[in-house]
Amino acid sequence: MKESSPINEERLFQEFIKLAEIASPSCRERQIADYLKKRLTELGLAVEEDDTAAKIGGNTGNLLARLPGQEGLEPLFFACHMDTVAPAEGVKVSFKEGVFRSHGDTVLGGDDKAGIACILEVLQVIRHEEPSHCPLEILFTVGEEKGLLGSKNFDISKVTAKTGYVLDATGSPGGIVIAAPAQNVLYITVKGKAAHAGFEPERGVNAIRIASEAISRLRLGRIDEETTSNIGIIEGGKATNIVPDAVYIEGETRSLDRVKLDVITDEITREFEKIKEIPGAKCDVRVVFEYPDYRLEPEQKIVGFAAQAVKRAGLDVRLETSGGGSDANIFNDAGLQVANLAIGMQNAHTTEEYLESRDIIDVAHILWEMVQMSAAAGK
Ligand SMILES: [Zn+2]
Repeated sequence: MKESSPINEERLFQEFIKLAEIASPSCRERQIADYLKKRLTELGLAVEEDDTAAKIGGNTGNLLARLPGQEGLEPLFFACHMDTVAPAEGVKVSFKEGVFRSHGDTVLGGDDKAGIACILEVLQVIRHEEPSHCPLEILFTVGEEKGLLGSKNFDISKVTAKTGYVLDATGSPGGIVIAAPAQNVLYITVKGKAAHAGFEPERGVNAIRIASEAISRLRLGRIDEETTSNIGIIEGGKATNIVPDAVYIEGETRSLDRVKLDVITDEITREFEKIKEIPGAKCDVRVVFEYPDYRLEPEQKIVGFAAQAVKRAGLDVRLETSGGGSDANIFNDAGLQVANLAIGMQNAHTTEEYLESRDIIDVAHILWEMVQMSAAAGK
């Protein structure tokens, strides 16, 4: 139990700082992957890198590492992503009063290096304590922040485990994300007709005006408790004295329910397509299905096993629904059942990101409990 836990807190903190200070922007994870290959090999794991780099225009593939375990036990899978959002270069970690932060000019990268550090710490403990445990399969993905590129290109048949965990959810440890939405992204171009705004505005068709009229008709924000929509980018126009002839817009829709996702996506598409009825105006809407949703039931073994580990680590269990996608969406869709676990990251994707040291200790404890429980065939 927690009191007698062999987790080495200082070693865990140092590992986290080391990982955070290795720059790993999306699709440029070479340096951290090389470091992780070395560390995993030292810890007795067999590591292979796949061919995803070439497929996504990156310099690094996904790393899959295997640690053999007791025969006859089903393997367990864990995954984190190696990349971070920008500003990702030159991270310097300050560690004061139990809180990790960047120096304020970059992200911290606790998303997702907090998870990686905890996995490495537990592998250290396994090496030292030699407990009996199930075989472990650990995947470190690339390009997650650029649209789950690594997991989308990973050959899931390389994994023999049927269940596992992604360590990539925000919030304090104990959170188990059992449902996450599917997402569509909409790429919209609205075309009008340029004209001199002072001499002959009547010859123009103002693309900004017709685009904004369409946007004003949309349902945006929270549609219902399972569904959201957003227009996030709008660009257009060249000068105040030109009637603008083009506007470019990007938006998204998300829902835990695939039918609702289609309904809101179609509704937005239709509103923009009405622009085609305006003389001289054109509109093109392209919808890209970004990732599928997933939903686990509280009764499922994968959820119960995590809940038990959380309790054994002395924490409260929270079964949660996420508003965002992660590699967990891709793995579940491919038939590998995974829940996403909260790892303590706060204000992720901002330069104000921070991580409480207590939280990564708790995450490491949860993982260590899972490893020990795996030997008791409790999963
Ligand atoms: Zn993440």
